Amino acid sequence: MSRTIVLMGAPGAGKGTQARLLQERLNLPQISTGDILRARAEAGDQLAEEIRALQAAGKLAPDDLVIRVVEERTARDDCQNGYVLDGFPRTLAQARMLEKLTAEQHKEIVAIAIDVPFEVLEKRTTGRRQCPVCGEIYNMYFRPPQSNETCDRDLGVRLVRRADDTIDKVRVRLETHQQQTQPLLDYYEETKRLHRVDGVRDTEAIYQDIERIISG
Ligand SMILES: [Zn+2]
Repeated sequence: MSRTIVLMGAPGAGKGTQARLLQERLNLPQISTGDILRARAEAGDQLAEEIRALQAAGKLAPDDLVIRVVEERTARDDCQNGYVLDGFPRTLAQARMLEKLTAEQHKEIVAIAIDVPFEVLEKRTTGRRQCPVCGEIYNMYFRPPQSNETCDRDLGVRLVRRADDTIDKVRVRLETHQQQTQPLLDYYEETKRLHRVDGVRDTEAIYQDIERIISG
């Protein structure tokens, strides 16, 4: 049976990387609601107009609109053998809508959470530095440059840190994510479809676990 994969993970957990690998290797398209809403707003119909009005007002798209867009996108041929949802469902109401949609599509939901402890997520984000010249990304904890805060390739060029990667802002992002995601984790746990993957390993080891879960 083909699968609807709900991929969950905090900012910095490596969800985007895994979704990309699933797309490349298993041909499972990554359905990111943010992306499809943006793309859908470009069309010339009523739905696009509704989306543009919400965006103009700076409002979050309501659940029923999001599910309509997901339904439309996942009805395409490339989703026939399954797809990976990224950023959806965000709420229990959306999770229930997804149940209905998945049943109609004769698919099975598999929820996968990439687990990474808070301290590691904090270091991954607050330690991130980038060279403004070549774009190389370093991490002061996990992949430090040879000499303090300067690029290995561009002599003497100081690495920069993104303004919203400070510890306070990272903590707020992680806590918000935790609060939003916990009800969904509980829901998929109770319905026995939650799989947890240890995200503190290299990309390939994590991917192998995810692939095993999907084909299991
Ligand atoms: Zn550089």
